[in-house]
Amino acid sequence: MDCLDGAPGKLRNFKKTDFGVDWIKVAEGRFSKVYRVKLNIWREQCALKSFDTSLSVNNFYKRMTEEASEAKVKIKYIVSIYGLCSNPTAVVMEYMSNGSLDHLLASHTLMWPKKFQMIHEVTMGMNFLHSMSPAMLHLNLKTSNLLLDDHLHVKISDFGLIKWEEGLNKKTFLEHLIARGNISYIPPEMFNVSFEGPGAAFDVYSFAIVMWEILTQQRPNSGRSVTTVLVQVSGGKRPGTDMVPEDKPCECGQMIDIMEQCWDQDLSKRPQFSDIVSKTEALMEVLKIPGISQYKKEFKSFRQSLLKEHTSMVFSENNSLLHYTVASGDRESVQQLLR
Ligand code: ATP
Ligand code: MG
Repeated sequence: MDCLDGAPGKLRNFKKTDFGVDWIKVAEGRFSKVYRVKLNIWREQCALKSFDTSLSVNNFYKRMTEEASEAKVKIKYIVSIYGLCSNPTAVVMEYMSNGSLDHLLASHTLMWPKKFQMIHEVTMGMNFLHSMSPAMLHLNLKTSNLLLDDHLHVKISDFGLIKWEEGLNKKTFLEHLIARGNISYIPPEMFNVSFEGPGAAFDVYSFAIVMWEILTQQRPNSGRSVTTVLVQVSGGKRPGTDMVPEDKPCECGQMIDIMEQCWDQDLSKRPQFSDIVSKTEALMEVLKIPGISQYKKEFKSFRQSLLKEHTSMVFSENNSLLHYTVASGDRESVQQLLR
């Protein structure tokens, strides 16, 4: 069967010969391989995510086609899907030069304005997906699915790939999520046998875990078995907020409040992204320009030089991180040069 048979008319269908000969493998997981390839017609780098179709659950071709077609609506907070390839079976998408957030969090210490900005960018993308009609659930929201562009802005990837459908066996669905290494992102109600199926509150819970990872730069449930996590989360236990670094600005307290609401045991108490987004925007704005509020204190340890009115440069003491902020037009762009 050709995976493109059922594709909506506007989808771009690629062939292997549409790509250059150099396929650079970026990552290989249990379910897929990601390559960086050059798209001949556009002379542009793109990412090709090929799937092991034998391992996937319910109707793989349909899901993949849907993901690509729904993703045709473009905003800057979600990774653009260019089309599909039938041989190998793959999604062709925007290449994100700085990889995924899980790697960045493990390798670099991020400063608070950047952390707040990243959290806000995730809420923008999630609000967009949930405000589609019908709402598009991600169900696979995690730091490895938050990709970073040239300027270290976050875009959401791999949305719509995992679908919950009426009649789907919940045990099989859960097993699939766990096999993807997603145990920490699954909300407690999913472990309740009588619970029907996931809704928007599923993604809100996963987002809370992502927030915790950004704020603490730690891995959740590190070293714990799946069974332990399952039992603890069902009993209401969550990652410790005491792991958020001491040097946090006072606004971080409000971020932690949002996070705790988002992982509430009672899913009806979790807020919607449409509510969260205005709060994260306000918090991001406060920290955006170094020198405002409590954040001023943090910068005492940094060499700071104002170049012109809206530009600031910040170096860490050992120069391991260069971070500059340019406020221009409607969007602040924050650059960090990675070593
Ligand atoms: P899942 O399959 O559940 O999404 P995953 O995100 O860990 O799990 P992949 O989606 O295969 O696995 O991604 C693996 C890695 O490949 C990512 O962590 C990221 O570093 C890289 N990657 C994925 N998509 C892209 C892309 N569009 N551009 C650049 N790198 C990418
Ligand atoms: Mg992924």
